[in-house]
Amino acid sequence: MATATPLTCDRCQAPLAEDAAYCDNCGERTRRARRMVRLAVRVELLFIALVILLVAGFTLVYTLQR
Ligand SMILES: [Zn+2]
Repeated sequence: MATATPLTCDRCQAPLAEDAAYCDNCGERTRRARRMVRLAVRVELLFIALVILLVAGFTLVYTLQR
């Protein structure tokens, strides 16, 4: 049976709550929070790239049709 590994702060080694985003002791972001931020940024970049591709595609189609 998997026992929950005690999460500790990277900076001050204080124990962290399971789903805490920040350390209660020093305010450092937890690894989970950093991972979530990275994921969010990646999704956002993907979305922006998609929009740019879409706009470029439409522009190309319109210019070719004239
Ligand atoms: Zn800390």
